[in-house]
Amino acid sequence: MFLQRTVAVAARRAPVAARFATRSFTTSIVRCEAPKNPSTPNEQAAALAGTAEKKIGHYKVFNEVKGEEDLFGPGAAPGTVPTDLEQATGLERLEILGKMEGVDIFDMRPLDASRLGTMEDPIMIKSAGDEQFAGCTGFPADSHGVAWLRVTRDRPVERCPECGSVYKMEFVGPQDDHHHHHDHHDPALEEPKTFADYIKPEYRYR
Ligand SMILES: [Zn+2]
Repeated sequence: MFLQRTVAVAARRAPVAARFATRSFTTSIVRCEAPKNPSTPNEQAAALAGTAEKKIGHYKVFNEVKGEEDLFGPGAAPGTVPTDLEQATGLERLEILGKMEGVDIFDMRPLDASRLGTMEDPIMIKSAGDEQFAGCTGFPADSHGVAWLRVTRDRPVERCPECGSVYKMEFVGPQDDHHHHHDHHDPALEEPKTFADYIKPEYRYR
């Protein structure tokens, strides 16, 4: 009741501040109802340590991360050994923050192994980067040793030399870069030519 009155007073004075106050109030209710995915720094530190409570310096949690500059930890208290939550940075930190809230940011699930991929119906590999390596063990799974296959945005289709299964990369990363104009490719990293570059165009897969 006290809080509602405060919001009403604030609303008369400054509508923007009122909206902000309402939102943070709602968020704190959600947090109380869902303790199994710890979403505040102190809850996450406690969950990691397996204790009821643990204090940790402030850092941005998963849904507050907007860019690289948000992926820094608070560091450890003097005289203590830092945990990953306290010291990890960059993509490793994003992965840890995601795991704390049940989000698998790198999608570590195995590929579809229920069938052999064909040219008409390849096994799809989602990738957020320019290239991806995928390990094939044949069909049924584990029928041959792991063969590592490389798929790229330029050459998305690859066949396993061991079992012939066909894989195709589906790019799911940001669309705003100019990858296909090759304007920021390092010439030293140009893909080497292979016999596949000299076959008749009609035989070339797309
Ligand atoms: Zn294979």
